[in-house]
Amino acid sequence: MNLDDYRRTARAWLAENAGTDDPREFMAKLYDAGYSGITWPEQWGGQGLTQEEERAFAAEARHYSLPLYIFSIGLGMTGPTLVDRGSDEQRARFVRPLLRGEEVWCQLFSEPGAGSDVASLQTRAVRDGDDWIVNGQKVWTSVAQHADWGLLLARTNVDVPKHRGLTMFVVNMRDPGVTVRPLKDMTGRAFFNEIFFDDVRVPDAHRVGEADDGWSVAVTTLLHERLSISAGVGMSGQKDDPTSLEALRRRVDAADPYVRDQLVELHIRSRALALFNQRLSQETRAGIFPGARGSAAKLLLAELTMFKADLATSLAGPGALVGDDPLAHALALAPAMALGGGTNEIMRNIVGDRVLNLPPEPRVDKTVPFKDLKVGTQA
Ligand SMILES: Cc1cc2nc3c(=O)[nH]c(=O)nc-3n(C[C@H](O)[C@H](O)[C@H](O)COP(=O)(O)OP(=O)(O)OC[C@H]3O[C@@H](n4cnc5c(N)ncnc54)[C@H](O)[C@@H]3O)c2cc1C
Repeated sequence: MNLDDYRRTARAWLAENAGTDDPREFMAKLYDAGYSGITWPEQWGGQGLTQEEERAFAAEARHYSLPLYIFSIGLGMTGPTLVDRGSDEQRARFVRPLLRGEEVWCQLFSEPGAGSDVASLQTRAVRDGDDWIVNGQKVWTSVAQHADWGLLLARTNVDVPKHRGLTMFVVNMRDPGVTVRPLKDMTGRAFFNEIFFDDVRVPDAHRVGEADDGWSVAVTTLLHERLSISAGVGMSGQKDDPTSLEALRRRVDAADPYVRDQLVELHIRSRALALFNQRLSQETRAGIFPGARGSAAKLLLAELTMFKADLATSLAGPGALVGDDPLAHALALAPAMALGGGTNEIMRNIVGDRVLNLPPEPRVDKTVPFKDLKVGTQA
């Protein structure tokens, strides 16, 4: 099917089905129509198409508010990690149910003492026959209250430096040893959670990659995370963004020279990010790995989100922040973009170090065994 026909068919399908409110029911319909996992390998349940089809579908989907939020971690991060790094058994077991919305996923990396420096995490997994026993705590885990499975990064070796003693696992979030407690943020809603693991048994068959090589798997996940956040996976369909150029033009006097100037600035920034994302996806298709430039895209999106929220508020005035105005919600949500998926400071460090080849931050703990470090609750 040529791209125009593809787009037309997608438009007609969305017009008929976008009203489905139940997230799992909607994902099943999306999958059955061939619009879930558009670029994912056919062998594991995807459509095996190109990013052009994916972009065409996303452009049509943007006219709707689709109930995709709870699938954003699975589609943007854990699923692509399993496709890249999972065993064939893991791909066969997990990828199709994820794409059909039968199973929801979360990503269990951050801990109270390990966010930016996630390699200093303390959740332990200890080998016991064919299983591993997991104990510890995670925090800021998005959508975990809905999740069936989680991708867990845990410490398996304390005698080696911090990056070399981690292992990645698939953990069953319905296990009785897993406690999920939603955390309310300043929007008044609970987007993320804290999680406690008490003697949770994980089969070795659910290990992703080699034991003690979890850091390289985590890097794969973080790369997908930054690319998917900047490309808007899971955010797609937020047609009612009250800070968009269109929404602001409806709301304020666009004849005012100051307002026009600000709206042009918003247009330029949005367009620059869209073109940068387009370039990254074209390069990916041509076999050029985006690598650390994914962090630059994520940083640009975080800065754009804050700029839009500030601009919208200053143009709309304080009245917009009372009552049920959607702007109040957008303003409270905006700073999350500068934290989740890595903070702006960390993105700048990565870009400086790996894109611009500036001298890296000094790392005094690089060769010290983890058990000798003063991190987290470790004395
Ligand atoms: C909305 C949202 C959703 C999230 N979802 C998930 C999820 O699903 N799964 C998950 O595992 N985690 C998730 N996180 C956690 C997120 O990855 C962390 O919040 C983030 O990595 C920062 O870690 P921290 O909160 O511990 O802050 P810290 O690392 O304690 O940082 C505190 C401050 O110090 C600065 N800082 C730290 N180190 C440096 C440095 N070397 N150089 C310069 N500045 C530095 C930071 O930029 C920040 O301003 C989410 C967070 C948010 C906000």
